[in-house]
Amino acid sequence: MRYQLDTIPVWDAYKAGGECPLCALRQQNEAMYVDSFLGASVMEPDTRVEVNEKGFCPEHFRQMFAQKNRLGLALITHTYMKDVIASVDAILERAAQGDGGGFLRRLGGKPSAKEDPGAAVRARTGKCVLCERLDYTMRRYAYTLVHLFTHDREFQRAFLDSQGLCLQDTALVLDMACEMLSGRERAAFFAAVRDVQKKNLERVEKELEWFTLKFDYRNQDKPWGNSRDALERAINKLQGACVHGGEA
Ligand SMILES: [Zn+2]
Ligand SMILES: [Zn+2]
Repeated sequence: MRYQLDTIPVWDAYKAGGECPLCALRQQNEAMYVDSFLGASVMEPDTRVEVNEKGFCPEHFRQMFAQKNRLGLALITHTYMKDVIASVDAILERAAQGDGGGFLRRLGGKPSAKEDPGAAVRARTGKCVLCERLDYTMRRYAYTLVHLFTHDREFQRAFLDSQGLCLQDTALVLDMACEMLSGRERAAFFAAVRDVQKKNLERVEKELEWFTLKFDYRNQDKPWGNSRDALERAINKLQGACVHGGEA
């Protein structure tokens, strides 16, 4: 799949630095989407229809709930809920008419939605319109990153001099490079990713080690160096930005 390039935000994120420029972009866009779903955009008919169909995951409901725009959130939750009630009732009605798929399951067959009402309810409530938008945006940034790396020497240097990426976004750019590049270009990109990741993962690992050693009373008076927030940065390096404000 081809994406439109969006070079300015990617360059800006690399200029700002940090443990994962893609995580920084994800957080900016996530905050923007949270705002827009609570704001005017959700009153647009197309968005309404999509929200009613997909709803939000627990994490994004939590982020919107934390915004304190209770009326905005109540309005979208209300129309979504009416839609969900209708579909869940239809699932339960079908389930009540059948035998719940027990017969098929005994035969080892795969039950349909009609015969597996639990899966059908889970599918109805398991999507998230915000996650879908964010995933698309992040794939677009990953596409731009790989493109810039192969076409722009200056970006190539910025990438190699950066503090690397979290492992989740490492996987994202590797997937994207597999789709976009082949031969020498792909090998060069993988070599650069390995170089920058090895160096920076080992750096954070050492900083985390010093963090643990600082708890030894013999090291009490030694300087923290860069290790004060090493636990936070190590977790975020492993799983993408998920914890904040964890200074010792
Ligand atoms: Zn990341
Ligand atoms: Zn979500």
